[in-house]
Amino acid sequence: MALVTTKEMFRKAYDGGYAIGAFNVNNMEIVQGITEACREEHSPVILQVSKGARAYANHTYLVKLVEAAVIECPEIPIALHLDHGPDFETCKSCIDGGFTSVMIDASSKPFEENIEITRKVVEYAHDHGVVVEAELGTLAGIEDDVKVAAHAASYTRPEEVEEFVTKTGCDSLAIAIGTSHGAYKFTPEQCTRNEKGVLVPPPLRFDVLEEVSRRLPGFPIVLHGSSSVPQEYVKMVNDNGGRMPDAIGIPEDELRHAASLSVCKINIDSDLRLAMTGTIRQFLNEHPEKFDPREYLKPARANIKELVRHKLRDVLGCAGKAD
Ligand SMILES: [Zn+2]
Repeated sequence: MALVTTKEMFRKAYDGGYAIGAFNVNNMEIVQGITEACREEHSPVILQVSKGARAYANHTYLVKLVEAAVIECPEIPIALHLDHGPDFETCKSCIDGGFTSVMIDASSKPFEENIEITRKVVEYAHDHGVVVEAELGTLAGIEDDVKVAAHAASYTRPEEVEEFVTKTGCDSLAIAIGTSHGAYKFTPEQCTRNEKGVLVPPPLRFDVLEEVSRRLPGFPIVLHGSSSVPQEYVKMVNDNGGRMPDAIGIPEDELRHAASLSVCKINIDSDLRLAMTGTIRQFLNEHPEKFDPREYLKPARANIKELVRHKLRDVLGCAGKAD
């Protein structure tokens, strides 16, 4: 199977009440960990590349790594997606360079300008058989070099979505309902504590999601910033020389609920970073004499694979949905 767009994936996910995982990739071990889990779980997958990943690894290397995964995993659909395309030129470069899906993120611009930029990308993308994700509303947190403070974030306004989708022709829409980028999604002040003293984040705004879905029946919705920041990996980092106090994510039961509704794509990046960094820190701490990168990248890749397997089966619900 060649690289595919997300069109068919989203249609089936919408009807089936599950979501496709969109995992960020930067290097070979991450691509392998994700796609080996998807192959074994017979799950469709979106591999996504941010502007920062392109700057780090080089566009051609990333495309070739993903093409290698397509060859190694012929039985599952794989889409290659640009995450947070900042402008038309970046989107065009990915469309011309082998991607099957792009996101244009003009959500920080005024509404009319967001429509105008998004429509331009959609026209070019659709002419080339590529699909487009757009965004309305602003997420808090840190994505590459873009930092949005919690007070500057804003929920998606459901009354805007029909006009936006109609005028732009976008294929899916990322909305802001309280998820956040990075490993510090909420400050302790935004949270409550349960009886064990563990931080409990504020709940997602499912009322906003439901109103958006009511206005856009059958239309695929996307959630960004949806890592759960597994506390076992935060502990592994902190127990082995790291310092990540109060790292906190989105509870998995909320993501599972979103996946059962109109959310067809859930973005996960920080969890993979934590699994990789925690594993490498622990390995080097326990084996200070080792210096072969293969020896610490191998367990890191294995833990990324197990993490992704858990997401596919227990959170997204897309295991077994490759046909
Ligand atoms: Zn994002």
